[in-house]
Amino acid sequence: MAKHSDQKLKADETFQQYKARVMDSKSASFCGAKWYYSTIWLGSGMTTSCHHPLPHRVSEDEVRANYKALANTAIRKRERAEMQQGIRCHGCDYCWRIEDLGGDQISDRVYKTVLYDDLALEQAYTSDASQDFDLKYLEISFDRTCNLACSYCNPAFSTTWVKDIKNNGPYEVLVTDAQDHYTHAHGDAGKYDHADENPYVEAFFKWWEADLNHTLTHLRLTGGEPLMSKHTWKLFDWFENNSRELYFAINSNLISKPDIINKLITASKNISDFNVYTSCESVGARAEYIRDGFEWNTWTNNFDTLANEPGIKLHSMCTIGAISLGGLVEYLDWCLVQKAKYNKDTPTFTLNIQRFPKCQSPLILPMHIREGYASQLAEWRDTHKDSGHLHAMEVEHLNRLIDYLQENNNQLGPPGYIEQLQKDFKSYYTQFDARRNKNFTETFPELTEWYNTL
Ligand code: SF4
Ligand code: SF4
Repeated sequence: MAKHSDQKLKADETFQQYKARVMDSKSASFCGAKWYYSTIWLGSGMTTSCHHPLPHRVSEDEVRANYKALANTAIRKRERAEMQQGIRCHGCDYCWRIEDLGGDQISDRVYKTVLYDDLALEQAYTSDASQDFDLKYLEISFDRTCNLACSYCNPAFSTTWVKDIKNNGPYEVLVTDAQDHYTHAHGDAGKYDHADENPYVEAFFKWWEADLNHTLTHLRLTGGEPLMSKHTWKLFDWFENNSRELYFAINSNLISKPDIINKLITASKNISDFNVYTSCESVGARAEYIRDGFEWNTWTNNFDTLANEPGIKLHSMCTIGAISLGGLVEYLDWCLVQKAKYNKDTPTFTLNIQRFPKCQSPLILPMHIREGYASQLAEWRDTHKDSGHLHAMEVEHLNRLIDYLQENNNQLGPPGYIEQLQKDFKSYYTQFDARRNKNFTETFPELTEWYNTL
């Protein structure tokens, strides 16, 4: 990810130095995201600070009485108080785990704090924990409508996934899936799928009109597939009539017909800093396996169309689960070809480690396989890090992933649990193959020998 122009690193300051100066001087667990950053799923009324902590629900009554409750919940206020005292709040485990890897590891806590100026961070640190804060960075999902059913997703985020469960029934015998990702259609997430009125969407547009259009420096639309939501186009209509300076991002799978891509291009003209984030982590058949419904040729054509639009910046988000690793170097090569063709920012890439469901984590792979992937990635990094095509953030993401792959997997659970996760891995992909007409061992031959032992 590129360093945004309003990030508050001093000249020549490293992220480590920034952390010591701005964050550690406040408390050992301070993170600006807890005050100024929110991810909100309006289709279900779920909210969290950044996207890492598990979300929690805002009540309809609360949000009807106070639209700012969308991101100023009692849980959120308690976690802010904990961070003021240096307590590691339970929900932010993702960052603590990265930091506990040792050395100079930089977690997202730093990247998500450096977005705000020092004064705003001081105000957060010294605030009364009961106070409502207006957001500066918002990631929002209007609904879960989506044309894909990716293997690392679930019905809470995709209506195509809902169809799989409704048509084929729940996935069976996934002992370790305590959160029941695949056993039901997640009706709560789609409570308003066909309703005329959604109090959470209404609260968002009220807050948007009153404050957010002024206070937000970053707005990101996510999904489902946001290009399939009528509310996305309502927001684009607002920008047609109102001018605001902000960093605007939309997460799109880019499996859309040309007329939708052209509408997106038209909408981009009304927004000064327009960014499209799209997920991929492998090339060709591997990508089409991981992301069911994905079409490599459609995606690369749409990528090219947008890359040729001067006002649009393109970013690639790679979700790194166990099955993403075998094709990752080939995908990074593809990214490098695009960077050479267009520029260093087209695309930027991030490597986002998948944690849930645990049976898809990279850490369920045997150490010899993980070490093989880690050394391929290290070789790729060492070959290209001085090519002029990679951002420091991209190299840091590679470093982080390489270290993570060499971690002991006992962080996944107690002794014996890893074997159950591996069994669930096979159980999941066996059922996925049958439902989606796919073939795991043909697609990931380097894993076949191990897979067949499970
Ligand atoms: S500490 Fe990490 S997980 Fe928690 S809000 Fe900040 S960036 Fe997100
Ligand atoms: S495109 Fe996004 S929302 Fe749709 S299934 Fe894939 S990960 Fe889920």
